[in-house]
Amino acid sequence: MLIIQCPVCGAEGDETDFHCGGQAHIARPATSDPDNIADGEQRDYLFMRFNPKGLHFERWRCDRGCGKWFHAARDTVSLDFKAYYGITELPPADVMKQATGQWADFFKKATAGKPAVKEAAAKKIGAKATAARKTVPAKAKKS
Ligand SMILES: [Zn+2]
Repeated sequence: MLIIQCPVCGAEGDETDFHCGGQAHIARPATSDPDNIADGEQRDYLFMRFNPKGLHFERWRCDRGCGKWFHAARDTVSLDFKAYYGITELPPADVMKQATGQWADFFKKATAGKPAVKEAAAKKIGAKATAARKTVPAKAKKS
């Protein structure tokens, strides 16, 4: 069982209280002419995903709490969550440093020239969620 904590409202529950939205940090191809995106770029955006053994970054939705989407860093081997952070943010710097392979390359590009601001925002949300921690109410029994 996965125990997840929403960084927005602080709700905590198992994976049935949340919805996994797949890989985090997927960006649409940057273009001013969306009708003429290269086939390769469109294929990568729609279908190509990382599938690492170890640290992975995912989107999750707080279904039984605030309903907001957030990002989580999770180890796919131990199933431990390493960090939760906002949907527009990068993970805390210490978690990004643990990334390997495709994720390490991704974060190297994403943080080029702007690491300090993103790191500070991620830590702020994590602290707020810890202070406001509460448990998601149990689901009503089906009759
Ligand atoms: Zn929430």
